[in-house]
Amino acid sequence: AEPLLDVQDLSVEYQTLRGPVQAVSHVSFSIGQGEVFGLAGESGSGKSTIAHAIMRILHSPAVITGGNVLFDGDDVLEMDVDGLEAFRWRDVSMVFQSAMNALNPVLTVGEQIADVIQRHQPTTTKQQAKDRAAELLDIVGIDRNRVDDYPHQLSGGMRQRVVIAIALALKPQLMIMDEPTTALDVVVQKDIMQQIEYLKKELGFSILFITHDLSLMVEFSDRIGVMYAGEIVETTNAHELFNKPLHPYTQGLMASFPALVGPKETLTGIPGSPPNMLEPPSGCRFHPRCSKAFAPCPLQQPSLREVEPGHFVACHLY
Ligand code: SF4
Ligand code: MG
Repeated sequence: AEPLLDVQDLSVEYQTLRGPVQAVSHVSFSIGQGEVFGLAGESGSGKSTIAHAIMRILHSPAVITGGNVLFDGDDVLEMDVDGLEAFRWRDVSMVFQSAMNALNPVLTVGEQIADVIQRHQPTTTKQQAKDRAAELLDIVGIDRNRVDDYPHQLSGGMRQRVVIAIALALKPQLMIMDEPTTALDVVVQKDIMQQIEYLKKELGFSILFITHDLSLMVEFSDRIGVMYAGEIVETTNAHELFNKPLHPYTQGLMASFPALVGPKETLTGIPGSPPNMLEPPSGCRFHPRCSKAFAPCPLQQPSLREVEPGHFVACHLY
């Protein structure tokens, strides 16, 4: 079957005073119907830039310099203003980290959900939109009687659930979640992610899941792409990535996060610092930090190759 989202060879550049920065380089991945695809990697590796490029909400000085983004066969990068208006929220919606703080303080949560519905479905009556808003609150685990509450009357976790309700309002086929629960405490995070997983099964949408929290990522993703310095360096299913990471960077990430169960261990971390993206290292961009680097690494850029069925890695070791 054709994937729902197919990102092909996407590149994004930031024009800075000190020169162009290649924030995303030739990134390809696809997401199937009902699938959760996770993007992992340190901050600054290009994860959010990819999300913004897919939604076409990148702003200057960021420019898409190449590639295609196909949604259900349509090229998102070619859409005009009207096409985009329909695409956003209806086909693809987005929940980001601080979204709960972007709710309008002078409107009730019900009004804000109803507003999205009426804007995209103008034939909906006010009462229908409000009923649907109450139903959506129910769906995300908030008592529907809170439909007339203002954001300040709700906790942070409840406000983020309202944002998810808004993202679900038009029954999108894909939800992009960029650090959707990062601002919340661990118990609330888990609770919300479990609810999203349940909703995903009920409603059948797909998710692009971005988080720096690897344990959440491994738990909730079907497949994961690991990014380093604007490139995907490894991609496979979550179970395999966790149990048998092949790329030395992924191995470092996996070693640096505490056990999923049991006592929290200290973080070992990956020695060295993220690369200067103005002058990325030659050859393999990870080579200055890689304990396994050998002769070809600084000279030749490794390409992403399938080394086991469905398991792709960009590293000269394989
Ligand atoms: Fe390390 Fe070389 Fe593999 Fe890069 S290509 S990750 S430097 S071994
Ligand atoms: Mg980010």
